[in-house]
Amino acid sequence: MSTAAELGRACDVALVWGRDYLRYDFGEHPMTPIRLDVTVLLARELGVLDRLRIVEPVAATEADLRAVHSPEYLAAVRAASVDPGYLGHGLGSEDNPVFPGMYDAAALIAGGSQLAALQVWNGQAEHAVNIAGGLHHAMRESAAGFCVLNDVVLAIRALLDAGAQRVAYVDIDVHHGDGVQAAFYSDPRVLTVSVHQDPRTLYPGTGLASETGAGPGQGTSVNLPLPPGTSDDGWLRAFNAVVPGVVSAFKPDILVTQCGCDTHHEDPLADLTLTIDGQRRAYEQLHQLAHQVAGGKWLALGGGGYGALRCVPRTWTHLLAEAAGRPIPVSTEIPQSWTDDLRRRGIEAKLPTRMGEGREPQPHAWMPGGESWLDRAISATRDSSYPLFGLDPDDPRD
Ligand SMILES: [Zn+2]
Ligand SMILES: [Zn+2]
Repeated sequence: MSTAAELGRACDVALVWGRDYLRYDFGEHPMTPIRLDVTVLLARELGVLDRLRIVEPVAATEADLRAVHSPEYLAAVRAASVDPGYLGHGLGSEDNPVFPGMYDAAALIAGGSQLAALQVWNGQAEHAVNIAGGLHHAMRESAAGFCVLNDVVLAIRALLDAGAQRVAYVDIDVHHGDGVQAAFYSDPRVLTVSVHQDPRTLYPGTGLASETGAGPGQGTSVNLPLPPGTSDDGWLRAFNAVVPGVVSAFKPDILVTQCGCDTHHEDPLADLTLTIDGQRRAYEQLHQLAHQVAGGKWLALGGGGYGALRCVPRTWTHLLAEAAGRPIPVSTEIPQSWTDDLRRRGIEAKLPTRMGEGREPQPHAWMPGGESWLDRAISATRDSSYPLFGLDPDDPRD
């Protein structure tokens, strides 16, 4: 099936975005809000924002958030917002330092993802994007991995409350989507699929192929852990060998994706080696999948990505352009106005000059019996998960 772009039709996209997102700021920390700021700037300079409808986020209420987090934890986040010495529930750690206004900043991002989800579900937009969202590590009782409130779980709960029967979640962040998996581990209405670096080599240490869900949710957690060093072609081979198969078989009403870009070869926190070009291809695949299996209903969230100047702005600008059905060629030059703006801010780092890295991903199709770590990883996931969907792990057409 063709993408909307190939059909010559633009997609109708809501971008939930407000400057107050930038208040989610841990200070000296990899999760700097600069990455979002310069992304929106690049998208604007390339004319991508003109193709989207921008919707202001609204903070999630305490009542909304109780669908995701315990009252004790929400009280802890409030306390941490006014007490710089707060320690507890994962807050005040090196990963999740506390800062003034933390509760409001996190609630705004969570509300943004909830709003984006409902824009799509209610038909106000075909696709919606919240690049500040995707905070997939936050747990019911604790902050984790730079994530204070789990906007993904809130968005999916909002979809279920609004009448969705089946929600498929695909997480392509380099880290396992543990908080989302945990929230829905025994819920048959939500399929969580996570493609990530092998947890034996990376935070958070979960996400083995053997984690497939529990009770009535047996089969609805799918994990595809990849060897360190996996690059564009290998990543896309693995994705194609698992994700479309299980998502199609699940027959979702809507596709929710976490589009973390810390799979990039320059990312300081992880060890996969994708290029911008490969990441762009991944977004194209997710977009196609939404049209193929979910009637075009697609909620795209951000996530990790710590190449704040060289990776995140390019990759998520590609995400926005792809969602709008007007992808940007990777050969496109970065506008001088963007570079000048960053220089005026005192940023001296080497900045990219083009929207891609000169690669043309050419993944070959997966075949059973491969002996590499990557092929064994693909087989392990198919062996664990495919039978639970009535699919044949050894049939490459499945
Ligand atoms: Zn579309
Ligand atoms: Zn991550």
